[in-house]
Amino acid sequence: MSFEALGLHANLIRALTDSGYTKPTPVQEQAVPAAINGRDLMVSSQTGSGKTAAFMLPALHKLISADVVTYDNSKTPNQERQSARSRGDRPRFVAAKPKMLVLTPTRELALQVTTATDKYSAYSRRIKAVSILGGMPYPKQMQLLSRNPEILVATPGRLIDHMDSGKIDFSELQMLVLDEADRMLDMGFIDDIEKIVAATPATRQTMLFSATLDGVVGNMAKRITTDPMVIQIAGSASKHENIQQKVHFVDDLSHKNRMLDHLLRDESMDQAVVFTATKRDADTIADRLNIAGFAAAALHGDMHQGARNRTLDGLRRGQIRVLVATDVAARGIDVPGITHVFNYDLPKFPEDYVHRIGRTGRAGRKGLAVSLVNHAEGMHVKRIERFTKQLIPVDIIEGFEPKKTASAPRSAARKPGGWKPGDNRKSGGGGFSNSKPGQRSFSKPAGAGTGAAPRKEGSGGYKGNRSSEGSARRSFGDY
Ligand code: ADP
Ligand code: MG
Repeated sequence: MSFEALGLHANLIRALTDSGYTKPTPVQEQAVPAAINGRDLMVSSQTGSGKTAAFMLPALHKLISADVVTYDNSKTPNQERQSARSRGDRPRFVAAKPKMLVLTPTRELALQVTTATDKYSAYSRRIKAVSILGGMPYPKQMQLLSRNPEILVATPGRLIDHMDSGKIDFSELQMLVLDEADRMLDMGFIDDIEKIVAATPATRQTMLFSATLDGVVGNMAKRITTDPMVIQIAGSASKHENIQQKVHFVDDLSHKNRMLDHLLRDESMDQAVVFTATKRDADTIADRLNIAGFAAAALHGDMHQGARNRTLDGLRRGQIRVLVATDVAARGIDVPGITHVFNYDLPKFPEDYVHRIGRTGRAGRKGLAVSLVNHAEGMHVKRIERFTKQLIPVDIIEGFEPKKTASAPRSAARKPGGWKPGDNRKSGGGGFSNSKPGQRSFSKPAGAGTGAAPRKEGSGGYKGNRSSEGSARRSFGDY
């Protein structure tokens, strides 16, 4: 199968050739023709499998194709202002009328999607894509909006600010994409999404994409799509066979830190992401690693957007070798040099495990994902295994043997037990939020044992299980 066979516009094919893409990935093969035909889509496909192009190429194709763009007579906001001036009216801001909206959970992902769009539309200069994000100066965003871009890529909060102040008019919107759709339809974003969707025409085409979409198809997903085509790319790729996974048990924090330092000296390592549960730990560990001679930097939601962007640029350019991040970096970020992912703390929700490890092994490359697990966290590993329907082998490094062995016997022969479809997703979207009261919260740092410095709660991204009914799962943007 070739990109030509998918029916894409020649300008796009040219840009894809420049990008070094020779043939479509499986998700692109299935999603592109369906999206060109105007179908609503719900697509799940492994991390790093090319989902961005799977929604952006058909969208660009439709925008480029003259028969779809029916607004050529309409004036751009700038032209509108000029004619207002010539009429002697006071110039006023004219709302941007995008044709396509992509919503993402993080600013970093929105910027990355915009960059990819610019790459794919390199020979389609009439098409403009801009990012609308929190943390970016308003005048800059007004200037971007005044160009009347066809495509907006946005995080929900700032988008709603602009909607409320009349800067964006969605009456001509044709396509809505929710990238990382399960996260976008999570409790924390749901009100924003409802509001945005309500402002768009019912005739729009809606496309939901994620690596972990199966099972979370809640009412909201059903409400915002019309007769969606469900595309699930199964097979070896969905098992993350290109990503080797391991668990190392640790006795305490100092054991964990020594092991991390050791693992970061792996010669096969190019770049790594170390995931922590809290913003404070991301800072502390990045500082410590820097002192130890690693080119490390932190990334989390308390940093200014400028610093966040510089850090990610540094990672992309290879100047930063170890990124120490909260889950703000768990979804979507595509840096091919990332060979290793470390869970310094386990994620609170099993689907986040899948997204975290998916920062490595991009576009079919190989990767290694290592979780440093306290003995008390064995249950959490099991939940992840139930979610991924895979066992994560426990490994022991010579010289770093844990004093204790795992509480429950784990053997490679054991099957991930008792999994039923839907098990992971009870009322509140499930996962770890179903843990019983009194059970150790997953987000709490594991500081048990001798030699462990007590670590304070409080700067944490996730606030633990806040309600027993399992709603209000997360506080968004707070990682
Ligand atoms: P996902 O959203 O599924 O996690 P991305 O869209 O971020 O994946 O793509 C992952 C990587 O694969 C990116 O670096 C992208 O440039 C690359 N890629 C996408 N499609 C192709 C293709 N058809 N051929 C080669 N590389 C591709
Ligand atoms: Mg993606």
